[in-house]
Amino acid sequence: MTRFNTQLVHGLPVHDNTTGAVNPPIYNSSTYAFESVDAMPRWDYARSGNPTRDFLEGQIAQLEHGVRGFAFASGLAAIHAVLSTFSPGDRIVVGKNIYGGSYSLFNEFFSRWGLCIEAADTADLESLERIIAGNDGDGNDGGKQATPAKAVYFETLTNPLLQVNDVQAIARIAQRHGTHVIVDNTFVTPYLQQPLDLGADVVIHSATKYLAGHSDVIAGLVVAKDEDFAQRIYFAQNRIGGVLAPAECDAVRRGMQTLSLRMERQQDNALAIAQYLLAHPLVRKVNYPGLPGSGENAAAKGLRGFGGVLSFEVVPGVDPSTVLDNLHVFRLAVSLGAVESLAELPCRMTHFELPREERLKVGITDELIRLSVGIEDVSDLVEDLGQAFDKAYEELPAEDVESQLRSGAFA
Ligand SMILES: *Cc1c(COP(=O)(O)O)cnc(C)c1O
Repeated sequence: MTRFNTQLVHGLPVHDNTTGAVNPPIYNSSTYAFESVDAMPRWDYARSGNPTRDFLEGQIAQLEHGVRGFAFASGLAAIHAVLSTFSPGDRIVVGKNIYGGSYSLFNEFFSRWGLCIEAADTADLESLERIIAGNDGDGNDGGKQATPAKAVYFETLTNPLLQVNDVQAIARIAQRHGTHVIVDNTFVTPYLQQPLDLGADVVIHSATKYLAGHSDVIAGLVVAKDEDFAQRIYFAQNRIGGVLAPAECDAVRRGMQTLSLRMERQQDNALAIAQYLLAHPLVRKVNYPGLPGSGENAAAKGLRGFGGVLSFEVVPGVDPSTVLDNLHVFRLAVSLGAVESLAELPCRMTHFELPREERLKVGITDELIRLSVGIEDVSDLVEDLGQAFDKAYEELPAEDVESQLRSGAFA
């Protein structure tokens, strides 16, 4: 058996390619000929499957240690397909603090569709177990048999605060109640954690982010641990039809070949930037699980690394928009996980759909800036941040600077 980096580069052997091409071909065919009426070919119609998609699906299954992979037209199409394997009336426990599009899909689509979506703090394992078990803790069950949740859904690292969810601990709880575990592994990829090995049943990716890694394709991937779940997901993929087109499958495949190299550089750069920010007088808080102290905690939860996304808060009085508007190497944009560095203001750009009170409750303040660190020279990134902070400092009203100095904010 080959190892992870070899699997990234080569995937599974291609058997239908007699040309010697070192890359699997892109098959631009929607239909495949039968040799005779009775001879059902391996592929007949490209929505149901095609060799280009098969290659990527086999590869992600191999990388995530599952039985079968599935490629979708977006991360949300992937999540939609997985959730559609449940039935109206089923209770699904969903981690607080998930990707906004997923939150909206659960609460504005699947709740209308009859799934009972219940939010839970996945960091508070005791209350999580009560919610999964179906005991709401108010003592008013009246002796009724509690119905455990059908599934628990959460992200490995929360966005944009980068809290680490303990897949193994959550899976252990879920297994006690026969509850399926679905993990969105977008922020860490199989390079840093393979959730199926830690007890998850299904792992989902927005491959748009780290897996493809170049901000040039929208894609979603799913891997199932067992054949039963895989068959239900295949039904959803083939019948709802949100499949990834062959050319996009190839773009994801090519991106994935360099996943480890990109991720290593992104992590090195992210850690250096987190340390720079920690020491900067205009920064009051840095969220990055790779920082000393938080790192051990994260490693204990099964992570081999911490990815390239971090967030930080500027001190009161400093306008975070001024910092962002003055960045030149960092591009001001949503999304993450690509070779180029991106910066954004969650309260205005990625998390504006959350009511302000909700946002503040989970810690997404108006001063919070999120960075997705790329593979550039880290000195260019640090200098870029430095000159943007200088601009924001120059714009501070004089009385603000004085009161900040008195309060020791710039100490
Ligand atoms: C981007 C993202 C999604 C949605 O994926 P799309 O490819 O944009 O549909 C889901 N989950 C997480 C964690 C994401 O970052």
